[in-house]
Amino acid sequence: MVLHQGQEFLGIVSSRRDYKERDMLVKIFTDRFGFKTFYVRGVKKRGFRLGAIILPFSHGRYLGSINDQGLSYLNLGKEIDQYQQIFQDIFLNAYASYILGLAEAGIKEDSSLAAKWFGQVDQALTLIDQGFEPSIITNIMEVQMLTLFGVRPELRYCSVCQNPQRPFDYSENYGGLLCQKHWPLDPYRLHLDARTIYYLQLFSALDLKRLNSIKVKDETKQHLKQALDTIYNDQVGIYIPAKKFLQEMNEIKF
Ligand SMILES: [Zn+2]
Repeated sequence: MVLHQGQEFLGIVSSRRDYKERDMLVKIFTDRFGFKTFYVRGVKKRGFRLGAIILPFSHGRYLGSINDQGLSYLNLGKEIDQYQQIFQDIFLNAYASYILGLAEAGIKEDSSLAAKWFGQVDQALTLIDQGFEPSIITNIMEVQMLTLFGVRPELRYCSVCQNPQRPFDYSENYGGLLCQKHWPLDPYRLHLDARTIYYLQLFSALDLKRLNSIKVKDETKQHLKQALDTIYNDQVGIYIPAKKFLQEMNEIKF
C-alpha cells in the first residue's frame, strides 16, 4: 500500500456517504487516478473547512494524498465549482449520476483511461448543466463509452460488405450496421428506423466540445433510448444503480 502525498488533480464529486459518526466517504472521479474514495474526517464537526469542496457534483482542482489501494485523503480544493442545475434538479441529477456510473464501471482506477475520458465526462455534465437535453447528451455518452466495455460497433458502413449506402439496420450479432442486402443474415437485427440509425452514426463521431445545439424529435428520442438500452443490456451487461432510478423516473414523467 503506497500513499502518494501532495498530489494535485482535477476531480468531480460523484457520490458520498456518511461514515462512522462524523465522517464521510466521498467518491471523486479524478483525471489522474480514475475513481478514488476519499476518507473525509469530521464533516459534521463545527468549523469543518472542506464542506464546500465535497458537495455533490462539485468539480475543480484538488490536492490530496492518493492511496494505491484503500482510502485516499483530501487536503484542499482550489477553483472549485458546482454543476448547480444538476445539483438542484432531481432529473438532471439522475442523468449525471448515470453518466458518472458508466464512467466508473468502465474506467475504475485506470490512470490512462481517466486521463482520456475526464474532459469528455466533464463536458457532458457541463452541457447538461447548461440546459442541453439530458437524454441526448446521455445517449451520446452511451454510444461513445461502448468502447470502454469492449464493444466497438461498426457504424460507418455495412459490417459485412463495407457498403456505405443507406438504408441500414443494426445487428448485434454482426457488431454494427447491415446494408439492406445483408438484412436476411440476421433475423434478430434491431429493426431501427433511418433516423435512429442516423443519430447513432452522428453520436459516435460527435465532438461534445463543438456541440452548439441539437434537436431530436420526441419519437426518435424514444427509439434511441430503446436501441441503446438493448445494446447495453445485451452487449455490455453491467448494472448501474442510477440507471434503474432513471428508468423509474421516466415512467413517472411520461
Ligand atoms: Zn452489406
